[in-house]
Amino acid sequence: LKSPYHGGHLEVIVGPMFSGKSEELIRRLTRAVIARQRVAVFKPALDSRYHATHVASHAGRQIGAVAVPGVSAIRDHLAGEGPLLSAPGERLPEVVGIDEAQFFGPDLAPLVLDLAEAGVRVILAGLDLDFRAEPFGCIPELLARAESVEKLTAICTVCGAPATRSQRLIGGMPARFDDPVVLVGAEEAYEARCRVHHEVRG
Ligand code: ADP
Repeated sequence: LKSPYHGGHLEVIVGPMFSGKSEELIRRLTRAVIARQRVAVFKPALDSRYHATHVASHAGRQIGAVAVPGVSAIRDHLAGEGPLLSAPGERLPEVVGIDEAQFFGPDLAPLVLDLAEAGVRVILAGLDLDFRAEPFGCIPELLARAESVEKLTAICTVCGAPATRSQRLIGGMPARFDDPVVLVGAEEAYEARCRVHHEVRG
């Protein structure tokens, strides 16, 4: 388990939906827990509340996590101001994991770089591309600044080839390029697709 890096660093795990990003994040974090390191895990909250939850993979593995409304809540939590912190004033964790990192804003990069500078091993998992196959939010900068990047693939639901993209379907049809990210009342689904079978309507 000895890290090849001296001190803190940033590891990023990316790929499309169903590529096993959460599985890989949980695998790395579980090994750190077995090594008796202090581990803190965060993910974005869908609402504006801080709460105890877990990061789960599609295959069912999970690890305890804190859902946070934004990056400043992660900072507060690590500074001992979070309502869920067991012992206020505790030292920084040795390992910080963040799932669904693409949903955080541009302030995620400065936070994780501060943590790495302070000696923390930071492991992020998130989508590298959105449903249009465009780079997703804060992820490109994090990929550039990471010491380690792992790109995972899923299996294309059409042909079985390695899938690098997330197909968004609305009412069974490929989504349009400018369809809003949140569609009220529409039946939506996502599938892993390869470059050939990924479709975006104009
Ligand atoms: P991610 O976090 O990247 O969305 P997860 O770790 O949650 O991925 O889930 C990965 C698991 O999803 C795989 O191990 C497999 O059991 C399951 N799965 C379902 N559909 C697919 C697919 N099309 N390609 C690969 N794995 C799939």
